[in-house]
Amino acid sequence: MVFQPILELPTSRIVGYEALARFGGEPAMRPDQWFAEAEAFGLRTELELRAISLAVAQLPFLPEDVYLAVNASPQTITHPGLADRFGESIGNRIVVELTEHAPIADYQHVLEHIEVLRAIGVQLAVDDAGAGFSCLRHVLRLDPNIIKLDLSITAEIDSDRRHAALAAALIAFARESNAVLVAEGVETKSQLMALQRLGVPMGQGYLFGRPEPLAEATQCESPRR
Ligand code: C2E
Ligand code: CA
Ligand code: CA
Repeated sequence: MVFQPILELPTSRIVGYEALARFGGEPAMRPDQWFAEAEAFGLRTELELRAISLAVAQLPFLPEDVYLAVNASPQTITHPGLADRFGESIGNRIVVELTEHAPIADYQHVLEHIEVLRAIGVQLAVDDAGAGFSCLRHVLRLDPNIIKLDLSITAEIDSDRRHAALAAALIAFARESNAVLVAEGVETKSQLMALQRLGVPMGQGYLFGRPEPLAEATQCESPRR
């Protein structure tokens, strides 16, 4: 697993890390391709739970005031064994990012499992908002603590008014629903400035730090710029 910092934008303080899986095997494939491959063999949930367990095992090595975000598809969120993966002393420091690759058929079922997770202190993030299946209705139904703005929006935030307008709409939406917006894929200072002008409170991306093994990711107090 590798870990990428998530920052509070006005202060540059690291508030969390997202755990992302890396695969050494052949053929060389992106992690999302490995997860899709696992799905084709009915093993997506098993692989996702394994990644979550490996990530959560690193929680004691993170600073106490930062959270750890892990990724889960709807089928993993509704797996009865997920809550056990978090152990007892997570203290509101785990965020589950719900990743979407297909429309959710039964929201009620997913929401019931999210309630169980919330009861043990897990927070919910909706991944990739503004892209694919993470439409506004999806965000509305899930009532997340965190909304992650898809990197395709961030990529054009400083060059296309419509992308900026979509981000502004999501910020207003997040405020009204007591959620926090995290912009993903921040690569340039110009994107950062546009996000700050719009009032996006948090960000993640190569500008602040790449996904790295935990020891490297937590090495420097303030992130590289
Ligand atoms: P994601 O959850 O949306 O993760 C964000 C992706 O954006 C990561 O790609 C990250 O390395 C990349 N990224 C971060 N900052 C930047 C940036 O500034 N610019 C650009 N262009 N990209 C940036 P990665 O690690 O290749 O993962 C791709 C996808 O694979 C993830 O998208 C997620 O859907 C899936 N994935 C990766 N690790 C896991 C895991 O442990 N469990 C599950 N369920 N899915 C995973
Ligand atoms: Ca994610
Ligand atoms: Ca994402």
